[in-house]
Amino acid sequence: MNVRRFFRYAAGVSDLAVLGHRIRHYRGRAGLTLDGLGDLVGLAGSQLSLMENGKREPRLSQLQAIAAALDVTTTDLLSEEPPTERSRMELELQRLQEGTVYSRLGLPHVRASKTMPDEVLRSLVGLQRELDRRSREAIATPEQARRDSTAIRLQMQQADNAMPELDALAEEQLAAVGHERGALTHRAVADMATRIGFELVYVTDLPHSTRSVTDLEHGRIYLPPASIPGGHGLRSMALQAIAHRLLGHSEPTSYREFLQQRLEINYFAAATLMPRTASVEYLRRAKQERNIAVEDFRDAFGVTHESAAMRFTNLATVDLGLQVHFLRVGDDGALMRAYENDGLPLPMDASGAIEGQVVCRHFAARTAFDRASRTTEFYQYTDTPVGTFWCSSQTGTGTDGEFSITVGVPFDTAKWFRGSSTQRRDQSRCPDKTCCSQPAPEIADRWRTSAWASARMHQHTLAPLPSGTFPGVDDAELYDFLERHAPDEADADSARMGA
Ligand SMILES: [Zn+2]
Repeated sequence: MNVRRFFRYAAGVSDLAVLGHRIRHYRGRAGLTLDGLGDLVGLAGSQLSLMENGKREPRLSQLQAIAAALDVTTTDLLSEEPPTERSRMELELQRLQEGTVYSRLGLPHVRASKTMPDEVLRSLVGLQRELDRRSREAIATPEQARRDSTAIRLQMQQADNAMPELDALAEEQLAAVGHERGALTHRAVADMATRIGFELVYVTDLPHSTRSVTDLEHGRIYLPPASIPGGHGLRSMALQAIAHRLLGHSEPTSYREFLQQRLEINYFAAATLMPRTASVEYLRRAKQERNIAVEDFRDAFGVTHESAAMRFTNLATVDLGLQVHFLRVGDDGALMRAYENDGLPLPMDASGAIEGQVVCRHFAARTAFDRASRTTEFYQYTDTPVGTFWCSSQTGTGTDGEFSITVGVPFDTAKWFRGSSTQRRDQSRCPDKTCCSQPAPEIADRWRTSAWASARMHQHTLAPLPSGTFPGVDDAELYDFLERHAPDEADADSARMGA
């Protein structure tokens, strides 16, 4: 008996439609009518019909009787495979028609009757698959994506960038693998994966469009062999994949849901690498000494500067009583990520979106690039139309050029940070165009008609938008990868039997 399958069956979550198709298939092969089989197993033909249509779940004893009457095993009946190609198409037609895309059309449900020719069925399935794919693509316009991204940013601003339930979940998982303090080891991450039934597998041929791939059937999380330049550490990627499982995420049905899931897995990974209790204890001590520094927080927990800076914003307001901002800016001045609840005027388009918008040239996030020595944080006070802010910036190099990571606070609370005694001060009048985004008229007149330049595309604004099953992921490449790495079926079956 296929043990795992049996438990799923016993738990009432087996796919009844497939089971029905398999009973009908073996009944046909045995040359029995519904009533004929009913007589053999002591059930009315009508009850059997409900089972074959996936509308009633047979009890285990009934299933055993049916198997015996049809001269097959219960394992044969409980296989997850549709019995024939025709049956596979019928099941897919049913599944697609029950989906939201088709339901919204108000069209009748077509049942694949015995007399429906194969080519009609194939055509219906093909059309509905395409309809499903197109509707997924339609939610992926850059405009909608920007609106969704803004909504998520504002939602986090409301919550002071904190998700206490994920902080608690992370600490619970750490306690379960016996992690107490300091940097989290790869070993502890692997133990966390094992606890939820997954094995971490390092491969060199992960699909280009993915950071990790999870094979639910065989309990494997595939990861790249070494850290990707630009800050996504291996531990972090493994933790994100684990978070998808722990949080019960399923295939996202909208871009907003995709962003929400990504936010949650990033948060969980950060909350595991920098647990709330230990981090707050560390940061409170630094605050008492008027010596808070993201670079120290980073080194104490062995993470990237960006992770430490982002994580600091999760804890700063709720646990330290500080309003803060965070910026990741490219060397071209374009904003890649940002968060603020301290009123820093962020550049944004008419819809409120910030991605790809150009930050004031006078912000520390940009003046930090002018420095010759960039090994330590750069400090600056900036006067803006809404007040003075103190900022700390660290520059780095990623796959698409240089970037700066900035954390800052309003003037009044700068005193808690290392670098608050800096004499460096700059002034920003943005969003007033005469501040830094408009050239002097006489210079503009001179060059307007006597120069030509070719633009570099912003990678982040043209990043792959959702299409296919998973936003931004090339389906064909993904499935090909899974096929290539799936353990041999025979091995997997014997492993299950042994369980
Ligand atoms: Zn400016």
